[in-house]
Amino acid sequence: MHEERFDVVVIGGGHNGTTIAAYLAKSGLSVCVLEERPECGGGQENAEPKPGFRIDPHATYLYGGAAPGFEQLELWKYGFRMVHYQSMAGVVTQDGVAANLGGRWNRDVGLESLRTYTGGDPQAAESLFFDNLGNEGQKALLRSLFWTPPIPSEYDIEPKDLPWWKVFRELIPDLWTDRLVDMSFMDFLDEFIPFEPLRCFEAFAAWYCGAHPAWDGMLLPSLGGALLVGYSSGSPRGGMHTYAHAIIRCAMANGARIITNASVGEIIVKNGRAVGVKLDDQASFPEKTIWADKAVISAVDVKQTFLKLMPKSHMDPSFVQNIKDVSLKGGSLFVLSVICRELPKYHGRQDAFPDEVYPSCVAAPADNMEFFYTQTRDAYSYKKAPELTPQHLTMMVCTHDVYDNTRCPDGYHILSPIYLEVPPPQYDVTGPEGINRHKEEITKAALNLLKDLAPNMDGANIVDVFLNTPYDSEFRNAGMSGGNWYGARQSDDQWFDMRPIAELGRYKTPIDSLYLCNHTSHPGGLCLMAVPYNLMHVLIEDQVVEPKNWWYPSPWYMPSQDAAVQA
Ligand SMILES: Cc1cc2nc3c(=O)[nH]c(=O)nc-3n(C[C@H](O)[C@H](O)[C@H](O)COP(=O)(O)OP(=O)(O)OC[C@H]3O[C@@H](n4cnc5c(N)ncnc54)[C@H](O)[C@@H]3O)c2cc1C
Repeated sequence: MHEERFDVVVIGGGHNGTTIAAYLAKSGLSVCVLEERPECGGGQENAEPKPGFRIDPHATYLYGGAAPGFEQLELWKYGFRMVHYQSMAGVVTQDGVAANLGGRWNRDVGLESLRTYTGGDPQAAESLFFDNLGNEGQKALLRSLFWTPPIPSEYDIEPKDLPWWKVFRELIPDLWTDRLVDMSFMDFLDEFIPFEPLRCFEAFAAWYCGAHPAWDGMLLPSLGGALLVGYSSGSPRGGMHTYAHAIIRCAMANGARIITNASVGEIIVKNGRAVGVKLDDQASFPEKTIWADKAVISAVDVKQTFLKLMPKSHMDPSFVQNIKDVSLKGGSLFVLSVICRELPKYHGRQDAFPDEVYPSCVAAPADNMEFFYTQTRDAYSYKKAPELTPQHLTMMVCTHDVYDNTRCPDGYHILSPIYLEVPPPQYDVTGPEGINRHKEEITKAALNLLKDLAPNMDGANIVDVFLNTPYDSEFRNAGMSGGNWYGARQSDDQWFDMRPIAELGRYKTPIDSLYLCNHTSHPGGLCLMAVPYNLMHVLIEDQVVEPKNWWYPSPWYMPSQDAAVQA
């Protein structure tokens, strides 16, 4: 009988599944990726709701500029091009502040705004930190946080000796004090950033990129989230799906087989070891059983992996209960896209955002921290559709087309996406359809607010509006549970080796040869190539793969002590 047999089978062809396939194929293994949808890429999608207008229904910014994957997988050879933005961010307030915050490729813009609004020495506040850290320092800090496998629990390390604090202390010894270790990012913002709209923006940026800024003891993971945005300051030319294409091409050029319309129904386990998968009956591939000689990698979420694909008989009931207790609900986004003829001209200082340095993401309105607290409260405490007043509706208004002419035809602009954090549908106290029921009113209020802040955003300027609610995102892609960019409930007990639960903290599972590679593992949501890079360390440790000389590990990597003894 004909058999399909590979070294490694990857379940799911989203960002993390295709990236690990590229890493393993480039290392010389035979790899097969099985994707249930007709196309790979998962949350890295672009859609064209009107011919010529490309919107981002899910992921929009490339936060992974510091990823080793760009060098290691040589994505530029496979068509990847980054568009660098002259200004990454701006903030506007109801009373006419319009501050252009610049970004990595143009610091002057941001410093000038700070000088205007704080009236003081712009070097004194945030630049004290950022100038000292510099680009190489930021990269080192980001890699220590995101591109390093979680430290195994056997190691007993003082918080100040954790890799990110070591990097910080070495780079900015003058700023270091013990008390930073217990701080939250909010404490830090209060102490070091005097300009309140900037504080508000940074808090939103951290919330949208990882650790919530209110978590005590998580200053650097939160700051790291905000730094991811500033360090990359751009997006792939043509949108996030082109990034997926480059990764997929790299995997295929190195021999990986990628099969779409191939939904996996079961992971096959023999003698406690994952040895292959069974495809669903309706899958496009004729051979319904595919064997994996070295490993099965689940690049779908942890709940599906163990509650749907894994036969119960192979798992301890208490482990199954722990998986049932994991929540994937958090970070749900309400996503608007607006086609218009003119960019928003924000009131107050209309000259603050000239076209050549127009901020690609504007927080509007971000008057003070209360705006940030209100939205967090609506989403996570009150858990219902926001009130339709400005304080509840701070939006992130993104405009990639200013720097990327592939996004829409000349004579138009496209504000896509405009994000608003809302409660996960399944936690909505008014029922899971809560946001869907209010979507027209929320859209109307958001557009009215935009018009108040930028009077040219009126009916004559707006050509079309598209929207996807959290449920729409889930419908497009079942992996985006509840339209959740983060992959799991946002909680400080699901970080590092505790994500998604302690037993699974290092991408390994109780089933031999079964590994996890989805954004439900550390470091979580975003297309950073971080989960696969980190998993590579563990696969090398387990002798599944032996990469070639292009590979370099994280300098802060700590092997599990078993592996250290073997070595
Ligand atoms: C609204 C929104 C905004 C976001 N903004 C950003 C952003 O600006 N920047 C950023 O970097 N990230 C952003 N993200 C997050 C990012 O999209 C995700 O973190 C990332 O796509 C997760 O990748 P993944 O491979 O882990 O999962 P997924 O992309 O969900 O991939 C899983 C894949 O597995 C497939 N699959 C599922 N079940 C099966 C099965 N049984 N058999 C075979 N295949 C299966 C799915 O179809 C899917 O293709 C955003 C997400 C959302 C929802």
